[in-house]
Amino acid sequence: MICVIGAGVAGLMSAYFLKEAGAKVVLIDRSSIPATGGSGCAGAFISPKIGKDSSLQEFTNEAFFFSQKFYRDRFPKFFHTDGVLRIPKNSEDEKRFKIYEKYNYTPCEIWQKSKIKEIGIDNVSLGFFFPEAGDIDAQDLCKELVDSIDIHQMNVESLEFKDGVWSIIGDRESIEAKDVVLATGYESNLLDIRYMGIKGLWGSRGDYKSSLELPISIHKDFSISSNRNGTIKIGATHIKSPTPCLSCDGRPLANLEAKAKELTKRDDFELIETFCGMRSTSRDHFPIVGSIVDVSTMLSEYPAITKGAKVPLKHYKNLYILNGLGGRGFVFAPFIAHKLSQYILKGEPIDSRINPDRLFWKWVRKERL
Ligand SMILES: Cc1cc2nc3c(=O)[nH]c(=O)nc-3n(C[C@H](O)[C@H](O)[C@H](O)COP(=O)(O)OP(=O)(O)OC[C@H]3O[C@@H](n4cnc5c(N)ncnc54)[C@H](O)[C@@H]3O)c2cc1C
Repeated sequence: MICVIGAGVAGLMSAYFLKEAGAKVVLIDRSSIPATGGSGCAGAFISPKIGKDSSLQEFTNEAFFFSQKFYRDRFPKFFHTDGVLRIPKNSEDEKRFKIYEKYNYTPCEIWQKSKIKEIGIDNVSLGFFFPEAGDIDAQDLCKELVDSIDIHQMNVESLEFKDGVWSIIGDRESIEAKDVVLATGYESNLLDIRYMGIKGLWGSRGDYKSSLELPISIHKDFSISSNRNGTIKIGATHIKSPTPCLSCDGRPLANLEAKAKELTKRDDFELIETFCGMRSTSRDHFPIVGSIVDVSTMLSEYPAITKGAKVPLKHYKNLYILNGLGGRGFVFAPFIAHKLSQYILKGEPIDSRINPDRLFWKWVRKERL
């Protein structure tokens, strides 16, 4: 049996692909309903990354290609493919758009001021429109995914490995499994995984009633969804503070509302519901997928690694992670969860761009000295 800990989009997609490939899976979360962490807050925009052809842009767009097709084919009722218009954050960013143009994911349409004005935005002179992009109903998708998977409510406190079996230990019970997948988002304190450099970034989303007739979604340094049945979503992850509730002063959406009003020249946004949550990011902004290095064994058996000695890595047996999904959890999750299931069940190697090993050597030399 494979035990997946965490019923956010990372854990749910892992369980989904493992089960599809024939594995017996149990999903554990401290909550009895899915997506109570970062996943339930997401605007869940599914769009490509723009930029100057970095390896992260290339990887993100591979994930976008896979995931938009996955949602379109398997979960079309939750994926709204109205397209996403990416517009510059400011005048400096607008200059960069000219450089980005040739590296854009295709299909992409270049929209000039007059075309953008047709959707009611008349102060923006350039944008990239991605017709295959859209947004997901995050919570509805997560609820649908959990319907087909056995979910068990338990706050996991520790993990122990003995005689080839993992014990997943909670306050009142423990569960045994041969394999374990950790998909706990930014709260990753069950093992020493400091080397992955997982950090949280706080964000908010508001669902609003509005007469703003936006036929497509817009992404700037915040996002506004298309209007469906009189409702729009406005959201962003933007607060690095470890005490976000103190810094927002009880009004987490105030800043985003002001930006949306300025962009659309409208102010009939009537708040229906507020969502706030944390998303996790790795040190290099790529997701983290695969086996986990046994840090304490490495340091005790090979102390010279902190001075640059290269030795083979030792990993925990049958223990895997899927984390660091950043601001694109719904873009990355199907793509990387599929890769993880192939790795666990068929031994297919993990792409070096997302393999956690990449983060270990840098960490051990810098942080341990
Ligand atoms: C405001 C906001 C807007 C966003 N917008 C977008 C967007 O437009 N597009 C996009 O693709 N992504 C977006 N994201 C990012 C996306 O939501 C995240 O990358 C994604 O949800 C991370 O999923 P996860 O499963 O890794 O973590 P989470 O959703 O946080 O799930 C982790 C789960 O693990 C459980 N857990 C943790 N520890 C334990 C334990 N010890 N025992 C039991 N259970 C445990 C938690 O209860 C939780 O359910 C946004 C995020 C936020 C916050």
